[in-house]
Amino acid sequence: MTTNAPQFWQRILTLAHDKLAQGAFDFFVADARLLKLEGDTAFIFLDKLKINFWQTNLEDIILTAGWEYFNKPIKAEYVFHMEHYQPVSEQNSSVTSGTEMLEQKLLPTISSDLNEHYHFSNFIQGEGNRWAFSAALAVAESPGIAYNPLFIWGGPGLGKTHLLNAIGNRVLEENPSARIKYLTAEEFINEFVTHIRLKTMDELKEKFRYLDVLLIDDVQSLAKKSLSATQEEFFNTFNALHARNKQIVLTSDRAPNQLNDLEKRLVTRFGWGLTQDITPPDYETRIAIIQDKIQHYSYVFPQDTIEYLAGQFDSNVRELEGALKNISLIAKGKQVDTITVDLVNEAIRSIKQTTTSISVITITAIQEQVSQFYGVTIKELQGTKRVQNIVLARQVAMFLARELTDFSLPKIGKEFGGRDHSTVLHAYHKIKDTVATDDSLRIEIETIKKKLR
Ligand code: ADP
Ligand code: MG
Repeated sequence: MTTNAPQFWQRILTLAHDKLAQGAFDFFVADARLLKLEGDTAFIFLDKLKINFWQTNLEDIILTAGWEYFNKPIKAEYVFHMEHYQPVSEQNSSVTSGTEMLEQKLLPTISSDLNEHYHFSNFIQGEGNRWAFSAALAVAESPGIAYNPLFIWGGPGLGKTHLLNAIGNRVLEENPSARIKYLTAEEFINEFVTHIRLKTMDELKEKFRYLDVLLIDDVQSLAKKSLSATQEEFFNTFNALHARNKQIVLTSDRAPNQLNDLEKRLVTRFGWGLTQDITPPDYETRIAIIQDKIQHYSYVFPQDTIEYLAGQFDSNVRELEGALKNISLIAKGKQVDTITVDLVNEAIRSIKQTTTSISVITITAIQEQVSQFYGVTIKELQGTKRVQNIVLARQVAMFLARELTDFSLPKIGKEFGGRDHSTVLHAYHKIKDTVATDDSLRIEIETIKKKLR
């Protein structure tokens, strides 16, 4: 036996690991053993079922490794039993499986940074998130194969981070040695900047390019002109992983084509796999989510309380969770064990107070922000001109007044040049419906809201 045989075998494993998806590597390669090397022939122990795969996918790798170590072509002879041999890979080390060998000797260890509380099992499916859920599950079950990349987008508090972590946690359950990394795009930017400063870019490359699954949250923060160098590195990372069929999952608050100031070639790549949006849960789904979350509290939630709550939080599950925490605090303080609608109201009021104690949103403030944003005057907002951009601005302002303040419809109408309450309601529904399908309007409105808070 040549002394170079173990290194030769390890080289085959490395090349195979680079070429194949983790799942394929684990299935077809990890159990294989080099039994002996004789003349120009490598005797490789395999499960008989796997011979075709080796013949079609791995013989070029065996040839390459042969040239590298022995300066000659090495051909493979497959053996289906190994009674008479002690495999090369086990002769001089305690390392037994191919995967372990790679991990211990070649790849730096990483921490996945997954949130262990987020699973598919505690994510409630419903209208709005069903397709994103299915896509995430498919990806978790066949990483690198189902959709690559998977791009999930939608408004805040709708479960994007939850699904992203659920993917990672599921892959780890199936394959505890999978190399997974969860991070926000913001963290990627920070890492990039740090490594540039410390002149350790090679480390960063190592860290990201040998992953099996890369989960990047809130990728919209990469979309800035000033970040073109980071985008470049992200582009390279993306390509390196994608070329090796490694799974990439991205989330964002908007669709790829709405990521202005993100390089075109990145936008294009984000669309290579599957893009799936999440929209706010409908009433039934909200009820189901509440029922699931209240299991963790020891209070009685009568049906009318649940329905009332479901009516109060219609666009952000995170806020709903916050309200439940508040409710339980108040219930604890009052030493009651049944949660009434009144108690819910009290909890919601106290949430509103803490948020509004920073700034009280007035109709005047809304009109000011909207007029600035759309470049129309406050007089025009209150007036009757039917020019398209003025009409839109006016409707957005009425919509926001209805959403962000407690003023009645007639009062809002009055502040908009003495309009009827039905006009306000019409504007409200018009914008609410449009926002459901029009991504740019949704982002415009979110931007204005941010300015108001
Ligand atoms: P996003 O990343 O879209 O802003 P998150 O994933 O952080 O939202 O979700 C906010 C909170 O709401 C999390 O605690 C998450 O577990 C919960 N949540 C969101 N959607 C669901 C759902 N469909 N079922 C159960 N919990 C959910
Ligand atoms: Mg998130």
